[in-house]
Amino acid sequence: MFTAFLIKYAEIGVKGKNRYLFEDALVRQIRFALQRCEGRFEVTKTQGRIYVEALSEFDFEETVDNLKTVFGISGICPVVHVEDEGFEKLSEDVIRYIDKAYPDKNVTFKVQARRARKNYPMDSMTINQELGGNILDAFPEIKVDVHKPDFILNVEVREKIYIYSIIIPGPGGMPIGTAGKAMLLLSGGIDSPVAGYMISKRGVKLEATYFHAPPYTSERAKQKVVDLARLVTRYSGPIDLHVINFTDIQLYIYEKCPHEELTIIMRRYMMKIAERIANENGCIGLITGESIGQVASQTMQSLVATNEVCELPVYRPLIGFDKQEIVEISEKINTYETSILPFEDCCTIFVAKHPVTKPNLKVIKNHERNLEEKIDEMIETALRTQEVIEVK
Ligand code: ATP
Ligand code: MG
Repeated sequence: MFTAFLIKYAEIGVKGKNRYLFEDALVRQIRFALQRCEGRFEVTKTQGRIYVEALSEFDFEETVDNLKTVFGISGICPVVHVEDEGFEKLSEDVIRYIDKAYPDKNVTFKVQARRARKNYPMDSMTINQELGGNILDAFPEIKVDVHKPDFILNVEVREKIYIYSIIIPGPGGMPIGTAGKAMLLLSGGIDSPVAGYMISKRGVKLEATYFHAPPYTSERAKQKVVDLARLVTRYSGPIDLHVINFTDIQLYIYEKCPHEELTIIMRRYMMKIAERIANENGCIGLITGESIGQVASQTMQSLVATNEVCELPVYRPLIGFDKQEIVEISEKINTYETSILPFEDCCTIFVAKHPVTKPNLKVIKNHERNLEEKIDEMIETALRTQEVIEVK
């Protein structure tokens, strides 16, 4: 019965002069998401509203599922269009709509009419009263509640008349493209895909870097990261994934530095290299999936050490989250099942039995001097041999 959707957006409605930029970005992202759906659609922006109109047959569930991935949408309202063929016909259409949309008539409602076409012969107050009365006559169990109705029956008079009352929650956030671009350090774990999702929810475009250590990490581990990136693109749009061969650097650190500091030193080089790739690609921030205290390399002292190598801001959206909370988001965005596949995302042979939990930055830097001879050249080689995968 539905032929269109009215798109509600909360936050971006209050952006003053920049409002049109946000709306245009939202329209663009909606069009992009709808490309994945069967059917043809027209997305229009009129009088501070965004409408999605179906120009052909379409799959309702699929369309709603895809709209739910567009950041910036706070609500999706399925709309019924009717021709303006007089008020009596409109009453009949509205009554038929309510009968279908609310099989259980034990509900309260109010009518909220909006006369966008000023030559319509009734004003909105009159439409409210007359339609309300006709609905009550048609369904004796239904009641009016003007303060806290179960549903608001919206009737918008335009060229055609639009009827809607259902609001399906959208993902919220800001449309992609309204902030800058950031570099996500993406591993095969549960946390980093969620971290990418959270930052892209604020309108941030993503690129990603994965540190691969063949043969210690397998091709399948890499494929898993590509798969995770692809799942995130449903929300974030296309991601360029930079795959860095980290094996030689890891082996070198393993050879030259105390084993209980391996993870921290390795993480410092990951951050350093990711920042280089970020700068080369116009990213103005880094994103990691770190959360205070989750593992030895994520204590506050360890974060001091890994943070120290970067000048770009490092966004850590999960920093105050418990694992369970992170898992819940990963289930919601459908990355969990892939994240828990058993391929190693980092080479366990390089993980010490008793890693330092309170690294001392001076000590760490001292030990990094052991790497002076070859590390710069190794970083250049790693950057030069990076593989870039365009994930869509
Ligand atoms: P995740 O679930 O995201 O893998 P984790 O709990 O395993 O996180 P760590 O392995 O300590 O935690 O990694 C912390 C963060 O460092 C990750 O969230 C990710 O952003 C980044 N990271 C770790 N390993 C890699 C890697 N191989 N490639 C790219 N980024 C990585
Ligand atoms: Mg990990």
